[in-house]
Amino acid sequence: MGMSAELDLGLERRIGKRSAAVIEKHLGLTTVGGLLNYFPRRYLNRGELTPISDVPLDEEVTLIARVVSSSTRSMRARRGNITDVVISDDDGKSGLRLVGGRDYRGKVPGTLKVSFFNGYRAKAELLQGRRALFSGKVTRFGGSLGLTNPDFLLLDEDPFTQGKDPEQLAAMPIPVYPATAKLTSWSIQKVISTLLETVDLGTLPDPIPGAVSAREKFLPVAEAYRLIHAPQVPADWQHARDRFRYQEALVLQSALARRRAQLAAEEATARRPVADGLLAAFDKQLPFTLTAGQAAVGKTLSEELGQDAPMNRLLQGEVGSGKTIVALRAMLQVVDAGGQAALLAPTEVLAAQHFESIRRTLGSLSRDPMLSGDGLLAGLGGNAVQVTLLTGSMSTGARKQAMLDAASGTAGIVIGTHALLSENVSFYDLGLIVVDEQHRFGVEQRDVLRSKASRPPHLLVMTATPIPRTVAMTVFGDLETSVLNELPVGRAPISTHVVGLAENPGWVSRIWSRSREEVDAGHQVYVVCPRIGTDDDGDFSPGEAEPAAADLDGAARELASVTAVVEHLQQEPSLAGVTLAPLHGRQEPAVKSAAMADFTANRTKLLVSTTVIEVGVDVHNATLMVILDADRFGISQLHQLRGRVGRGGLPGTCLLVTTLEPGHPSRRRLDAVAATTDGFELSQEDLKLRREGDILGASQSGGRSTLKLLRVLEHEDVIARAREDAQDIVGRDPSLVRHPWLAEAIDEYLNPEKEAFLERG
Ligand code: ADP
Ligand code: MG
Repeated sequence: MGMSAELDLGLERRIGKRSAAVIEKHLGLTTVGGLLNYFPRRYLNRGELTPISDVPLDEEVTLIARVVSSSTRSMRARRGNITDVVISDDDGKSGLRLVGGRDYRGKVPGTLKVSFFNGYRAKAELLQGRRALFSGKVTRFGGSLGLTNPDFLLLDEDPFTQGKDPEQLAAMPIPVYPATAKLTSWSIQKVISTLLETVDLGTLPDPIPGAVSAREKFLPVAEAYRLIHAPQVPADWQHARDRFRYQEALVLQSALARRRAQLAAEEATARRPVADGLLAAFDKQLPFTLTAGQAAVGKTLSEELGQDAPMNRLLQGEVGSGKTIVALRAMLQVVDAGGQAALLAPTEVLAAQHFESIRRTLGSLSRDPMLSGDGLLAGLGGNAVQVTLLTGSMSTGARKQAMLDAASGTAGIVIGTHALLSENVSFYDLGLIVVDEQHRFGVEQRDVLRSKASRPPHLLVMTATPIPRTVAMTVFGDLETSVLNELPVGRAPISTHVVGLAENPGWVSRIWSRSREEVDAGHQVYVVCPRIGTDDDGDFSPGEAEPAAADLDGAARELASVTAVVEHLQQEPSLAGVTLAPLHGRQEPAVKSAAMADFTANRTKLLVSTTVIEVGVDVHNATLMVILDADRFGISQLHQLRGRVGRGGLPGTCLLVTTLEPGHPSRRRLDAVAATTDGFELSQEDLKLRREGDILGASQSGGRSTLKLLRVLEHEDVIARAREDAQDIVGRDPSLVRHPWLAEAIDEYLNPEKEAFLERG
């Protein structure tokens, strides 16, 4: 048993066998620590209590009232009985209402009928004159409002309220626990109150170091447990919650700091730059100058690659900020030093695009695969690197060859999708892994790739979805961060407009004539639809879905689909003679690549697609993007999408088309996107509109957010302080010998399920 014997103790030892069985059955908790850490979800304050005269029909209400009368009768038609209780929020004394002591002067005290079917407990407990808290849904029977089978809690018997005068009682917050249908918040509260009496709170370990507690003026741990469960005044639970919230942040950040320290302690192969290698040659032939940001990040990467501790870096960059070149230069340095580099992309389209554009960018520095039959392999190549594509949809023969090239070291740069992770892919000497568009890739997958190198490889993770600082600190807390926030010069601005068809139905034809103008000027157009066909639920293969966008009104509306829009546009007079093609995730890979290739080569003028073009696709000649039913997409997704236009020095335009009425909540997203092109600002906005679980990727892990009290956005300062403290603590005491309780809290936190969260990134 660990240090926290009390926390590990079986619940039955403290609350008895029967209660323990109930708690285990309904909440799945078996230990003292488990139940102690089962915190109220919120607290009811007086202000939330409803006076009886105001109870609204069909709504959940909570009210404090006094029993005026009670009677029980048998039912006529069925076996069983009904207990009718009349309650009032008039305390019977002059002037003072019982309702939470709130000042209801001017209100008429009300009475309400409360009925219980077979309510044996109600019959026994709700005796005349008793005060109770009722919670239930208001229904109407026989012309008057009432409650049927509400939850109730006798206030006079409640250990927390007993002996309190009305004013004190009025100030007492009522904890509301995450309850189940079978186990009410109040039953949980009762069990916990027993627990608080029987547990030896004084022996509970405190994971927060004393110095930190002193600095933050935190409540002692015993007091904090008492007050979070049984507050006397609102400030009690607020202080307790501050403490546990910080504790949560500290444990998480310490776990991340430890992981960082462990990663840093591993030994990697240093890949130092060489004087006249591929990288030098590449820099010489670069058709543009690097932005200051690219140069600075490049320097950091170069230095870190040259060390024998593995680099673990996150590169955040605005859409179009030029991350690929930065990654490519890092890859070339590694190849120069004799290693291989792997670039992992989230989709086949993007992998293929990277493959094409990297070979194009490298020009003569890229060497085509040699036919092995020629026997010319050895010695060929000189100052050139073989770039190899490896995806799941390649023919068996091509894939075998690619795998052979990776394993033999013939391929210096291997670009691929998930296929790179498959078991039979191996490398000769993998020195650097680049993961593009991180939000689609988990850490487990990075770790699988890592395991393909004999020594830990260097790692560069790139994300185009700007991540608020706190999310970076939490979800990517094991990586160091670099930011590219400046766009290359000559990048034309993108102007974004919301096109509301509800108020201006005629604008539809204007959209297509506008597209025509663009094509006539020699440019190209993307049209993006939320669906593939009329019979499906969208193009959402796992990981591509945008849960935030799936809102309520979808079923009623006919959403734009790629097939229907292609058909429609082929008939559209203003687009007569314009070559257009569909692109979506359900096409055969060969059809997909052909569609992409045709568009890249400007053979197709107008591409009608799903969000498959969302990430990374880079066609400079595209200047207009029309997003149909744009309200179906999330903020980051829209921002990503529009980043596909305005890339070639030509100004870009993005039309966010919607049939929703102005003022519809989902149009707020569109307005936000139209209002700014600052991705960081948008990602903050996005987070506000999303559920916490989505941020943390919990939607993939079953929808349960791991963070109990921390809210990534709201508690930025808490997370930042905890991170600093954690860094300090782990820095001085890497194996936490002087902080055993913190170490134990981390282990607790990293139980397999939660470990998965950390690993998932
Ligand atoms: P992202 O960061 O979104 O992945 P890319 O790496 O795809 O952006 O770069 C977008 C485009 O900008 C590419 O066509 C690339 O060649 C170009 N580019 C990158 N760096 C520069 C630069 N310093 N000056 C001009 N163009 C650049
Ligand atoms: Mg990119």
